[in-house]
Amino acid sequence: MELVYNIDYDIAALLVLAIILIYLFIQYSSTLESNRCFRGLTICALLLTVSDIASAFVISYGSQIPLIVNKLVNASYYGTEAISIFLFSNYVKSYYNHIYGKAVHFLTNRVPIIFYAVILLINFFTPTLFEVSDQGAFSHGPVHFFVYVIPIYYYILSMVVMFIHRKEYPFKRLISMMTFVIISISTMLIQTFVLPEYLLSCFGAAVSILIMLIALETPDYQKLVKTMEQLKKAEAEAQAANVAKSTFLANMSHEIRTPINGVLGMNEIILKSNPSPDILECANNIEASGRSLLAIINDILDLSKIESGKIEISPIRYSITIIMNNVYQMIFFRAQNKHLALNVHCNKDIPIGLLGDEIRIRQIMTNLLTNAVKYTMEGSIDWNVDYEPIDDENIMLCISVKDTGIGIKKEDISELFVAFKRAEEQAHRTIEGTGLGLRITKQLVELMGGTINVESEYGKGSVFTVKIPQKILNAAPSGEFKSLTVTHIEEDSKDVRDMSAYTILVVDDVLVNIKVIRGLLRETKINIDSAGSGREALDYLFKNKYDLVFLDHLMPEMDGVETLKELKKVENGLNKDTPIIMLTANAILGAREEYLEAGFTDYLTKPVRGKSLIDTLNKYIQ
Ligand code: ADP
Repeated sequence: MELVYNIDYDIAALLVLAIILIYLFIQYSSTLESNRCFRGLTICALLLTVSDIASAFVISYGSQIPLIVNKLVNASYYGTEAISIFLFSNYVKSYYNHIYGKAVHFLTNRVPIIFYAVILLINFFTPTLFEVSDQGAFSHGPVHFFVYVIPIYYYILSMVVMFIHRKEYPFKRLISMMTFVIISISTMLIQTFVLPEYLLSCFGAAVSILIMLIALETPDYQKLVKTMEQLKKAEAEAQAANVAKSTFLANMSHEIRTPINGVLGMNEIILKSNPSPDILECANNIEASGRSLLAIINDILDLSKIESGKIEISPIRYSITIIMNNVYQMIFFRAQNKHLALNVHCNKDIPIGLLGDEIRIRQIMTNLLTNAVKYTMEGSIDWNVDYEPIDDENIMLCISVKDTGIGIKKEDISELFVAFKRAEEQAHRTIEGTGLGLRITKQLVELMGGTINVESEYGKGSVFTVKIPQKILNAAPSGEFKSLTVTHIEEDSKDVRDMSAYTILVVDDVLVNIKVIRGLLRETKINIDSAGSGREALDYLFKNKYDLVFLDHLMPEMDGVETLKELKKVENGLNKDTPIIMLTANAILGAREEYLEAGFTDYLTKPVRGKSLIDTLNKYIQ
């Protein structure tokens, strides 16, 4: 008697799967979850094919086959079919779990297959899924629909995982896995509805497993997956290290600035108390060393902030001559101390109103001019500010600083903008510097869409040229640059007035900081209340009206920003209009904007100078 079904395709599937398995056992040494799932899937598909062939015999010779064998064949067909698709869904998930180290959570994914196994087992005692009569006739049991529901569930689960993670999965992987779903489902449908006498579905599964093998499971591809995994790990580690670095730097800023605030503040009090010449000299040295230590900390912080991408350019309306005046005041005395001529030229036609980041432009000019002064022993510094028109709305601002200094060797020029690199380190060790200024300058210039260029002749001097595009807000010419307003910025404020009628609150958890502020403001005779924490500050602020508050940021329990938030929650409180000044050791570039955004009226950094404190009082207490 002939078989009812044509099993040619099953035999072909058997061959294909057997070859794949042999290949896998020879090639594979991997213990990755995805490889295990793939191997499991292949074995299961092989068993399914064997069961399929066996069921063809059972159906054809039902009455001659013992009942238990008949039942076993049917059960193994249904069982291996469901397990194959279950393993395929695990294969789909395992890649994501492996690469991203996270599990795809579909908590119930094992429950249906266990439940199904239980029904299959019960089927041996009482018909649930199918029934086989003594004559070998097959009929459906009461819950036969589970035979379809379970595989369909795992197909859907696999497709949902593929869809959710479509961006994380390589395209090749997605396509190969989708091919498995499409081929195995379509061959099953063809077998059921078009060619019922041909057993096609196992062949479809075998072909799609072969496609996945070629696309995803070759040793080369496995190596690629391993490399990708290592890359992901390395990337995560690098990110973690970067976060740790930024946090460390932010903390370091605060921790170092706090004691410097004490040192410089107390020193300023000594300087103000008419000390003897010896002590005056020591105090001046403390001042100079403290300031250069601060400059170094500031540079390191700026750089870390720029490199971690936390710097944003904040364009505002500004006038170039005002910036130049500011910078000129700072540089003039340094140049004068070294007997260098400082020649300034500013094109009087530069538009008076520009839109750009005033603070960064000032920083760029200051860095270039400070370097020119530092690296020039005699001669002059030419500071030229000019522009090139771009169109009606934009200009290219050109800033150049030319010196007659030591110059830079050709081979060193490419290294100038590398962080912590200094040209001729040994020869220049007596010149103060960290090798960060130009790196920061270049990054800032590039953030603003500009360029920086260096020309230098060793022993003769250098020219640094910066070009930055800026928007025009008012095209009227800014006129001649007048540098007549030079006042020594180190000088004490001339505007000390009697402020005994006013009371301010100083909030800081470090006692010495409060002492410093008291000392620096002594001559104003202003009344000062102090609080050592945010909580204590709120007690004061809810009880008394103050003319101004200096509030520290980092304090235990409740920090300055939280304190301000709490204060603002009370509508129409006593101090609703009181200027609240952030006075903090957090001097990271961009901090000012953050504090102003948080609702502070103004921002001062520690170590604070008497002059800035008094200027602030004068500005906000009329
Ligand atoms: P720093 O001055 O703190 O060392 P910078 O990043 O500002 O760091 O400069 C890097 C290096 O470039 C300096 O160490 C110096 O060798 C060189 N350099 C910068 N400006 C000049 C200049 N105007 N003349 C000569 N050399 C300069």
